[in-house]
Amino acid sequence: MTGNVTITRRTLPWVPLYEFDCDACGARFEELVPPGATAPCPACGGERVRRVFSRIAEPGLPAGLQGKAAKESNARRGEREAQRKDRFVAERKRERGQGPPGG
Ligand SMILES: [Zn+2]
Repeated sequence: MTGNVTITRRTLPWVPLYEFDCDACGARFEELVPPGATAPCPACGGERVRRVFSRIAEPGLPAGLQGKAAKESNARRGEREAQRKDRFVAERKRERGQGPPGG
């Protein structure tokens, strides 16, 4: 396999836009860096920066619901599940009561 493929570096490969917090001056900035890499703070030049994971959605919450709405939705679901459980237990008891003794 031979080929003269010249890779032009004019456009970078896909790099994600990360948010960083500067440890030294507290500045927050966004920088395009390869995964795992960091960028120096543009404000003070410090290299002690921390990645901020603010863009990642909170797990467990249904999409589109936030804060109060999400809490209410969870509470409603909890109630419904509790009711279902109660009914299930009641049915179980009734079945046992009607079933043969000593089972
Ligand atoms: Zn800084």
